[in-house]
Amino acid sequence: METAKIKLYNTMSRSLDDFVPLKAGEVGLYCCGPTVYNYQHIGNLRTYIFEDVLVRVLRRAGFKVTHVMNITDVGHLVSDADEGEDKMLVAARREKKSSLEIADYYTQIFFEHCSWLNIQRPDIVCKATEHVEDMIAQVKQLEENGFAYVSGGNVYFDVSKDKSYGKLAKLDLENLQAGARIDVDAQKKNPLDFALWFTKSKFENQELQWDSPWGRGYPGWHIECSAMSTKYLGNHFDIHCGGIDHIPVHHTNEIAQSECATGETMSNYWLHGGFLVTNKEKMSKSTGEFLKLDVVRDRGIDPVSYRLFCYSASYRGELVFSWEALEASDKTLKRLKQAVLSWKEECGGVPSKKLSPAAVELREQFDQAVYDDLSMPRAMAVIHAAAADSELSPADKLALLLDFDSVLGFDIEDWKAEKLDIPDEVSSLVKQREEARANKDWAEADRLRGEIQALGFAVEDAASGSVIKRL
Ligand code: AMP
Ligand code: ZN
Repeated sequence: METAKIKLYNTMSRSLDDFVPLKAGEVGLYCCGPTVYNYQHIGNLRTYIFEDVLVRVLRRAGFKVTHVMNITDVGHLVSDADEGEDKMLVAARREKKSSLEIADYYTQIFFEHCSWLNIQRPDIVCKATEHVEDMIAQVKQLEENGFAYVSGGNVYFDVSKDKSYGKLAKLDLENLQAGARIDVDAQKKNPLDFALWFTKSKFENQELQWDSPWGRGYPGWHIECSAMSTKYLGNHFDIHCGGIDHIPVHHTNEIAQSECATGETMSNYWLHGGFLVTNKEKMSKSTGEFLKLDVVRDRGIDPVSYRLFCYSASYRGELVFSWEALEASDKTLKRLKQAVLSWKEECGGVPSKKLSPAAVELREQFDQAVYDDLSMPRAMAVIHAAAADSELSPADKLALLLDFDSVLGFDIEDWKAEKLDIPDEVSSLVKQREEARANKDWAEADRLRGEIQALGFAVEDAASGSVIKRL
């Protein structure tokens, strides 16, 4: 099958690159998943919306995508740089549950919230706790290749042996090392080294432990993504995604582990989602200042409106959250829904099979936007232009929107008119107006329209008859 040309901003090259897959027509995609010790806030969900749009765009372009996402249920310490306790353990203590109960609960809520946002489930969802054997095998490989050392019972990655360490973040290693705190972990040869496997660490109460060649213990956080991406996508795959905060530590360490274990490039393209911020501060779980998707829903806002709100900026930049902006997106979604329903009425629910040249042109503009590094603001502008185009038939508009929904993820096919309770008085006025129109008494028809509006309803004239809506 033919595939469309796509450009993606690659953090590795710091440029907008043509996307060329390793195998024609296929894409291996790995996305770092949630650490399931707490709810994912709407900032985290912005990252999953961006990744979902990426998958949808790749599929629209004709690629067969294998989308892999991990679930971090062990090993992610409070600081990304090996400090503090395991986040799962802290949560288990807080909620008086076991780590696995915590993980199951928050994983289930995460997928529920994803479904509210029409985020499609990845093809492979893999839990860290179920892949510890794969991680041990990769740590062994690193040891054999001379990139790991044991110190104080823990196994560390030796950054000094990896000549390309830090290439993604373009880290200035000399300055970083000079500036790094030396008291972080006395077992490390170099402050930038990071743990691959913990045994006799400072966290002896770790609830989840496994046997390993280095003693009973548990894996570091970064090794899970290296081991699972290799297992499901091979040593070398196409695209790796995550939030922008992963560039300097987590993704940097993933690259070091995978490439030093396999001797191959890990991923050709690295895509990073920008942060959702509130008043210029990152929305974050550690500060406790975060919004859950339930809160949005409880305020009467459709979660899909949050998806639409995310389309107001490029996925790469910051997006500033405010209730006013989200409410404006909710209104936009409602207006779009009304428009789609009225086109449906007008064309008897049958979208065009063959688009007019003007509609074809709009479809091309939409594709150009989404294939240009997922430019959703431009894609939305095309939709608004289509909706406002009085030359375009309702059947063409409906066909376009249903087609664009493969990327938008609004579930337009399922949009239905809300059941409208029409007071008898309004029905009788509408009937009188239809009679006035049949008698070509336009002045009377306009007067009756005014009376209907005064009661809070609008009446439109479609081929199938009067369409009544709430104002
Ligand atoms: P975590 O569960 O903390 O590992 O985070 C899940 C994902 O959300 C990661 O890809 C993070 O990079 C991303 N993330 C964290 N905070 C934000 C934020 N404020 N806005 C957008 N993405 C975020
Ligand atoms: Zn990861």
